[in-house]
Amino acid sequence: MLVGGAIRREWRRQVVIFGFSTKVVVLAMLTLVCPRCGNQSAHPLHKAVTRFTLFFVPLIPVKTRYGTQCTFCGVTNRLSADEAARLRHQVG
Ligand SMILES: [Zn+2]
Repeated sequence: MLVGGAIRREWRRQVVIFGFSTKVVVLAMLTLVCPRCGNQSAHPLHKAVTRFTLFFVPLIPVKTRYGTQCTFCGVTNRLSADEAARLRHQVG
């Protein structure tokens, strides 16, 4: 025998923590002439990957950037993926 037919549903409060994190990796160390200060100095070739995170776990890459930074004056230069690959292969 059924008594009552209502199914009681509860909406529980749930917390979802999400965001973005960026990890920077140095691919190579290049010796270049800086376009701003004109000094021949070391320029680390960076790869920065930004990922969507869920509960602080990086899951999906959403953006990848490449660039170099002058160690003398600190100026950064953005590069395309093709330019970064070409510079990386020049180093060896
Ligand atoms: Zn410089």
